[in-house]
Amino acid sequence: MEIQSVLEKLKFSLFSPEMVRKMSAAKIIVPDTYDDDGYPIDGGLVDTRMGVVDPGLRCKTCGGTVKECPGHFGHIEMVRPIIHVEYAKHMFYVMKNTCPNCHRILSKKPVQESEIKESEKEIIKAEDTKAVSKPEEKKEESPEKKEEAKKPSTAEEVEATTRKRSRKKKIVKKCYHCGEELPELKLLKPTSFFKNKNMMLPTEIRDWVASVSDGDLRELGFDPLYSRPEWMVFTALPVPPVNVRPSITLETGERSEDDLTHKLVDVIRINQKLEANINAGAPQLIIEDLWELLQYHVTTYFDNETANIPPARHRSGRPLKTLAQRLKGKEGRFRYNLSGKRVNFSARTVISPDPRISLDEVGIPKAIAKELTVPLRVTEWNLDYCKELVMREDYPRAIYIVRSDGKRIKVGDTEEMRKEQAENLKVGSSLERHIIDGDISLFNRQPSLHRISMMGHLIRVLPGKTFRLNPVTVSPYNADFDGDEMNLHILQTEESQAEARYLSKVDGQLLSPRHGHAIIKPQEDHVSGLYFLTNDEAVFTRDEAATMFYEVGLHELPKPDVKGGMYSGKLLFSLLLPDDLSLKMESKLGEQIVIRAGKLTRGAIESKSMEGELLEKIFVAHGPEFTKNFLNSATRMALNAITLHGLSVSLKDYSLSKKGEEKVKSVVDKMDREIDNLIMQYKNKSLERSPGKTLQETLEGLIVEITSLTRDEVGKVVESDMGITNPSIIMAKIGARGSLLNAIQMTALVAQQTVRNKRIARGYKKRILPYFREGELTGAEKGFVYSSFHSGLTPYEFMQHSMGGREALVNTAIRTARSGYMQRRLINALQDLVVLGDFTVRNADMSIVQFVYGGDRKDPMYSSTAEVLDFVKQDDIDTA
Ligand SMILES: [Mg+2]
Ligand SMILES: [Zn+2]
Ligand SMILES: [Zn+2]
Repeated sequence: MEIQSVLEKLKFSLFSPEMVRKMSAAKIIVPDTYDDDGYPIDGGLVDTRMGVVDPGLRCKTCGGTVKECPGHFGHIEMVRPIIHVEYAKHMFYVMKNTCPNCHRILSKKPVQESEIKESEKEIIKAEDTKAVSKPEEKKEESPEKKEEAKKPSTAEEVEATTRKRSRKKKIVKKCYHCGEELPELKLLKPTSFFKNKNMMLPTEIRDWVASVSDGDLRELGFDPLYSRPEWMVFTALPVPPVNVRPSITLETGERSEDDLTHKLVDVIRINQKLEANINAGAPQLIIEDLWELLQYHVTTYFDNETANIPPARHRSGRPLKTLAQRLKGKEGRFRYNLSGKRVNFSARTVISPDPRISLDEVGIPKAIAKELTVPLRVTEWNLDYCKELVMREDYPRAIYIVRSDGKRIKVGDTEEMRKEQAENLKVGSSLERHIIDGDISLFNRQPSLHRISMMGHLIRVLPGKTFRLNPVTVSPYNADFDGDEMNLHILQTEESQAEARYLSKVDGQLLSPRHGHAIIKPQEDHVSGLYFLTNDEAVFTRDEAATMFYEVGLHELPKPDVKGGMYSGKLLFSLLLPDDLSLKMESKLGEQIVIRAGKLTRGAIESKSMEGELLEKIFVAHGPEFTKNFLNSATRMALNAITLHGLSVSLKDYSLSKKGEEKVKSVVDKMDREIDNLIMQYKNKSLERSPGKTLQETLEGLIVEITSLTRDEVGKVVESDMGITNPSIIMAKIGARGSLLNAIQMTALVAQQTVRNKRIARGYKKRILPYFREGELTGAEKGFVYSSFHSGLTPYEFMQHSMGGREALVNTAIRTARSGYMQRRLINALQDLVVLGDFTVRNADMSIVQFVYGGDRKDPMYSSTAEVLDFVKQDDIDTA
């Protein structure tokens, strides 16, 4: 029978020295490990009473071997008490709140630890002192004590009033129980205590906190039955079992001990030296020096990164990895071994694009398909298929048979063995077979910043050594193909497979769960292709149309709609649209796009119309499957169209005509004149000051405005000069790639460079570079780049551009670091929240976090586009 019990609560407490001794299996007295024969020394740090790590030996405490013995603690008797680093501040808190003479609590409202940290010398407020002095607020006070308490309390009150008169005068506080003057206490981290500037010995500290009564400790937040402050001072140091700090034997036969063992050797050695000196009656100074050294070794044994003390090092110079280092941080036990673990049934390799597979597929190399397996339950319906899998010699075959009793049997190498195993295959057992086309997987790219960083993809086994991803699916992963690697996981239970198939598969994630707009959408060449497919001039021959149709799986050609037996691109595209789709929208090019009953009749498709209403409407009306097929077909057709049309740029495409250059020049000259004019007004103080700004700030603001207007004006010149047939302008206008600004900077001028949204000002005294005259305020001196990338920048312009460029670079570096940390905190805070069937959001103990999910019960993905406000479209809310 299985015995179950429910864990009601878990209580953490401190070990008392008695407890340490009681649970100790061995008192460790020898600062060494093995003797010359390689056998553990009795009373040494690998004493067999603490368990064993050598296969041949048995534990002296429980008699178990390496595998059986759980390990047992030992202990070291400290010759003098030693403070536990991690608890120094707790002891300081107790001392700060108790009297050094009568050891009673000073105030009913203890000085909080946080308050102590802020200012060590903090004066207790006059009100607090008064409140404490009131006799009726004391509990269980004997009459005599009350008498005693009265005198100082009035004295305190007098003092409180004197303090009001001169705040700066140092107040001497007194214990209101016994009248003892309270000393000035200081904690110098990590473990040095000072009383009125005199160093306190751990014995004194221990005696003080040990004398505090149970009642007062409870008042201070302790549970004295389980944790008393004097237990924070070691008189007996626990020594962890050997299997916690196993030694490793090198190939040479040499033994190498764990860092913890090394540290414990130091502790014992100094402990013994201290004992010898005390017994020999050495001078107090020498004893205190050794005592301090012992404190150092115990401190670094717990945490070798303690502030204000040098870390203990190996002879090689490498700092020792002690207790705290095992647990802390990214590589510590918690984050490395517990929160995140290595997993089986996963693969990782470089990704590369494949626009011919479906967007919800992932192409995997055969080598990976032959390595990963998925469990397959043997039923009476698939028995024959399962037998065949067992019989097979090559790729899709079963590798293991898991019998119903849980035993795993490897499928045999020889045909006879396999034949026998196939014949014995029974319903109820299961197979572990190779993954094949159509299996579900979870595909992931790090950093996993949102839930769509992990999506369900169908397996497609392909030749090659990379994962193949449809380029239309890169955006949720933020992937590109410049060497990015991704992880693939094969799900091992039917439940998780169903979840991947029905909840996290790519086609269910076409719209963002954050803003409800499309995130898996045609990009770059897809957009160019769609434009070349659907603009008014696009006509295709019968052959071309047939090829396109074949590729998207349509086998019937419509009637040609252009004379000469030609097909318009609009007609071809329309055949992909659902029949009930009617839309009217304005395109990025400013023309009308009209779709009537699934027929595109006017306008050319570009990025905005495609990813905007078109995709979202189809998704909301027809669901994931239909939208997936539509996207697959549309992108495939688009790529065909761009292949037929061709799209390329050359240097000539980024050159202005003579006339254009003159126009740019005149715009820039105008700007220079305006700036000169403003500077003149500034210099003779006739410039009108803007409210809330200095005159200089006013001038800078106006100049920045002029430079940005100039850039816009130049943009217009560039646009009209290069014309709509220029590929770079087309790409910018339809939203395929690049912007008008890119074209401006390449052809006309790079324009104003800024640092922190201001004209560049840093560098030398009153100028950016020695090249300039001091104090000049015109364009060139303050970061306006008159050259274009085409003509080339002057040396000082290059400098200014670099200054502006570096800011952008630094910002992205900082943003990624910060968003990574923010992700960690959010995951920790929200990891157990779940939306239940009744739409409440609850945490792990079923407490309600939100009565209705999102406050309105709406899934942004399935909200109609009209209901989603435009302002949430800003993509940078999360990282701003
Ligand atoms: Mg990359
Ligand atoms: Zn044992
Ligand atoms: Zn006292």
